[in-house]
Amino acid sequence: MLPDGRLWDEAKIRRLFTPENQCCSVTIRLPAEEQPDNFFWPNDPKGEFSVKSVYRLLVANRTTEVNPMQHVRWKDLWRLKVHDRFKMLFWKVMWGILPTKCKVAEHMGNRMNVEGDLLCPLCGAEPETLHHLVFLCPYSRAIWCKSPWQLDITVFRHDSVSEWVQKVIHPHQELAIPMVDQHFFQLYVANALDLLWACRNNVVHEGRQCSMSDLAAKVRRLSGEHDWAAWRKR
Ligand SMILES: [Zn+2]
Repeated sequence: MLPDGRLWDEAKIRRLFTPENQCCSVTIRLPAEEQPDNFFWPNDPKGEFSVKSVYRLLVANRTTEVNPMQHVRWKDLWRLKVHDRFKMLFWKVMWGILPTKCKVAEHMGNRMNVEGDLLCPLCGAEPETLHHLVFLCPYSRAIWCKSPWQLDITVFRHDSVSEWVQKVIHPHQELAIPMVDQHFFQLYVANALDLLWACRNNVVHEGRQCSMSDLAAKVRRLSGEHDWAAWRKR
């Protein structure tokens, strides 16, 4: 801004920004009186950032896709008592947009059709799809086998991943998980997906391996297993 603070210093803007951003900058109206800067999220009437507003924005921009879940169930997902980061992860899983090797290849028009390039970076046994990672990969099976429910996750392999997430939203009705365990179960699924994906990314991007037993133990630890066990005994 110019020294009096009420006008843009256009010469400086031309020097510092690309032509496209120069236009954006000078069209921002300056307030009549000096005010402290603050953050404003333009997709919410109050300017406050929320996961819900991001969701609305993304859904509005995805009109050509088939919605994988009824509106009322999306509401149930956003009401889950888990961190917003996990809700976004569930959302990505529901829409099947996590960039697994097969998903990336699909978007590239199968230009990476060398079989070896598409194999799961964790087990190397099958092409890496989200379905493989969630239901069939030995890493996921280890997480669930060592969970408090000792679940055989491959039982659900005939479901789509989005059907699995929908069951997780209502685990008592859909999976016969006791009411008292519902929240812990949802937290466990969230941590399982999150850590499995992080483990996979570590291998792909940093070449860092993680053992199946370490991964399963980490999921248990981060899901607050000890707190949960103590709480149940009360
Ligand atoms: Zn695998």
